[in-house]
Amino acid sequence: MKTFHNEYLAPYTSLRVGGPAETLIIAESYADTVTALSSLSKPAHIMGYGANCLVSDQGLDGTTVLLRGGTVNVEGTTLTADAGIWWDTAIQTAIQHGLWGLELMSEIPSSVGNAVVGNIAAYGQQASDTLLWIDVFDQKQKEVRRIKKDQVTFGYRESSLQKQLELVVLRAAFQLSMLRTVELKYDSAITIGEELGLDHTTLAHCRDIIIETRRRAGSIWHPNEPTDLHTAGSFFKNPMVSEKQARELAHFDETGATLERVINQSKIHGGNAQRASAAHVLLAAGFHRGQRWDRVELHPSHILKLATLDGASAQEVYDVAMEIVQTVKSKLDIDLETEVKFLGTFNKKC
Ligand SMILES: Cc1cc2nc3c(=O)[nH]c(=O)nc-3n(C[C@H](O)[C@H](O)[C@H](O)COP(=O)(O)OP(=O)(O)OC[C@H]3O[C@@H](n4cnc5c(N)ncnc54)[C@H](O)[C@@H]3O)c2cc1C
Repeated sequence: MKTFHNEYLAPYTSLRVGGPAETLIIAESYADTVTALSSLSKPAHIMGYGANCLVSDQGLDGTTVLLRGGTVNVEGTTLTADAGIWWDTAIQTAIQHGLWGLELMSEIPSSVGNAVVGNIAAYGQQASDTLLWIDVFDQKQKEVRRIKKDQVTFGYRESSLQKQLELVVLRAAFQLSMLRTVELKYDSAITIGEELGLDHTTLAHCRDIIIETRRRAGSIWHPNEPTDLHTAGSFFKNPMVSEKQARELAHFDETGATLERVINQSKIHGGNAQRASAAHVLLAAGFHRGQRWDRVELHPSHILKLATLDGASAQEVYDVAMEIVQTVKSKLDIDLETEVKFLGTFNKKC
């Protein structure tokens, strides 16, 4: 366990902005996390690898606990991983044991903890699909308890745990399978597999195809590797729209796919027929790739990724995000929700 005072959080996040934590504890194991949380008189701010949060320039008061480290175990077809384990380490372990069920989520930058809390998803698989149970630390009761999957509600990029801020996930168990459970149906990934001569019906090749597809989409990020691209992945969730709007927005697709195909891809992404692609929504509202606001831009190839440029502040990112939300509401009457979590305080423009 490492403890720091007035430690800047920007380097601990993928957006690379944000002020200091009054006290920062890096918990490197399950035991570290329990020891740290048990000793605090007030609930802590919790983070994993900082790949989905925007920390305020004012920083965070009290204690912030980062869960980074732990162990992964496989017994039969059950994989158990501590919350601070890098998600892809858990997936690599599953694949080494010939276990299916997580492979389509390879290289999503995440801790195991927030993989469950945020119900991460990609290419037709979501973390909750194979979840069995989680161990949590209750910051109010100061106790560890086990919660079974059916005691948690999961939805598209969300879970009921996000409303139970006192609960910190410590460990998660997944029921995997020796047989393939989800078929890869995502067009761009299938095409890349064909191009590389890889067979997506085998476990190792399936992972390779996903990693290459993510690499080409600029969707790979590792906490300790320097990169010029500072994003939090897709900043906005795919919004719920009427069926009529979904069909209208599908016209903004630029892949040449049929309307039915575009709507179907939205389902594969973990949505349903009435979830429009947030990328199509931004295009329909008049935003464009590479659009720049001083030191924040929409990624030149991926409109949903807000990227910070040198010297950007968290408030600038917040302002751009709010401008997008308000413009989408006023032009299209669609409520856009951020996928990224805001930590600390931000100035709201009237
Ligand atoms: C390049 C890039 C690509 C991405 N691609 C995808 C994708 O394909 N699919 C997808 O679903 N997401 C994607 N994301 C988003 C990101 O990977 C996920 O949201 C991930 O779960 C973030 O995990 P984290 O540990 O970094 O969370 P953090 O950013 O550290 O934390 C976010 C919030 O999670 C909560 N939290 C974290 N750990 C715990 C815990 N142990 N217990 C309770 N609460 C906790 C806290 O409230 C915290 O504020 C992408 C992000 C990036 C940067």
